[in-house]
Amino acid sequence: MRKTDVIIVGGGQAGLAMSRSLALRCIDHVVLERGRVGERWLSERWRSLNLLTTNAMSALPGLPYDGSESDGFMPASAFAAYLERYARTMGSPVVSDAEVTDVEQTAGGYRASTTAGEWRSQAVVVATGACETPFRPAMAEALSPSILQVSPTDYWEPGQLPQGGVLVVGASSTGAQLAEEIQGSGRPVTLAVGDHTRVPRRYRGRDIYAWMETAGILDDPALEGGNLEAARRQPSLQLVGRPDNRDLDLGVLARRGVRLVGRLTGVDRAKASFADDLERTTKASHARMLRILERIDGWIKDHALEATAADPAARIPVLAAGGRLTLDLRNEGVRSVVWATGYVRRYPWLKSTVLDHRGEIVHRGGVTPLPGLYVIGLTFLRRRRSSFIDGCGLDAEDLAPIVKACLGRPAKEAA
Ligand SMILES: Cc1cc2nc3c(=O)[nH]c(=O)nc-3n(C[C@H](O)[C@H](O)[C@H](O)COP(=O)(O)OP(=O)(O)OC[C@H]3O[C@@H](n4cnc5c(N)ncnc54)[C@H](O)[C@@H]3O)c2cc1C
Repeated sequence: MRKTDVIIVGGGQAGLAMSRSLALRCIDHVVLERGRVGERWLSERWRSLNLLTTNAMSALPGLPYDGSESDGFMPASAFAAYLERYARTMGSPVVSDAEVTDVEQTAGGYRASTTAGEWRSQAVVVATGACETPFRPAMAEALSPSILQVSPTDYWEPGQLPQGGVLVVGASSTGAQLAEEIQGSGRPVTLAVGDHTRVPRRYRGRDIYAWMETAGILDDPALEGGNLEAARRQPSLQLVGRPDNRDLDLGVLARRGVRLVGRLTGVDRAKASFADDLERTTKASHARMLRILERIDGWIKDHALEATAADPAARIPVLAAGGRLTLDLRNEGVRSVVWATGYVRRYPWLKSTVLDHRGEIVHRGGVTPLPGLYVIGLTFLRRRRSSFIDGCGLDAEDLAPIVKACLGRPAKEAA
């Protein structure tokens, strides 16, 4: 049994940022990682994935991007290598191949059982990621077993799918990227479009994320009440990170031959039903995009910044309507379904008293009701960019003093 002050569960960007913030305060801690540092980027992302945020925005505190393409987009594997370098540079006390299987509250704090032994600590910070387990709607179980079902975490490249048609469900960044790639491999794609937000990759001479950062959009605070729950459910922006800075929206996909249909509403073996909502979702997506662009325009005006004039093409709506309401997947030659339907979080190793009815950790800005138990890296934890690479460092700096304050206090007071 080893002892430390704080156990961090998870050695991704959030766990490493937390580790740095604790180290800066001379707090003894350990980072327990079930695989390797940055494991998610190594084994749960598809081969062609480039980051969606620019290189300049894909760095953690203390180790900025030092390459020559600050506006470029690095491959997922390069970001995993960066995280490895980060852990080494910061001297993070990472224990790899240590899967946490149980966390139990004790009189003095916590006991964590792992595949590499046991640790005791006064506090625990959960950093297992916002994109933990791919979500599959219950209707997936009604799909004929003759149709292959794939989640983004098991998708690597189109060649692993059987020849024939593919139904991609979900049109945010993952669904749009996979639909484009799979269509390009000669497998005809039908894309079931749910809520999404289209944005142009470049706007007024800069990357859209760079503008969102400058204009303070990524710093919108997580205010309790109001629309926080809705904000936490917002899907990722419909973007791809490529050297040509191209857009990836429904118009681009339709031109490539992808067939667009509405939200998937039901499956009965090989029969799939879709809502007649393409017009509504594409209009709503357009309205959301305009709100983002208007905030950027407003910021440019307020700060009298000289920026390239807005490209009118960015504001032309990409609207789709109609689409088939039912499809017999077998007759249409569809041999596989890709569920790009977002992620949920699972904590089988955590006692349920801190989980809500959906299995999500109950918290306020990362502080849970359990004394000494904290969470970092979740969507809109404290601000819009909390689950982004360049957001978790800010949250870690906010949380570290709170964690420090709980150390040495009786467990029941340290909440
Ligand atoms: C496809 C995709 C692309 C993305 N692209 C970007 C982008 O370009 N820019 C951006 O800012 N954000 C991006 N994100 C969002 C976010 O940055 C990532 O989800 C990122 O991986 C989150 O980092 P994290 O450290 O919070 O969690 P994770 O990277 O998920 O790290 C959690 C770690 O915990 C470990 N773990 C889990 N359970 C246990 C356990 N029981 N015991 C021990 N260890 C455990 C895992 O192995 C993992 O290494 C993307 C997300 C996805 C899904």
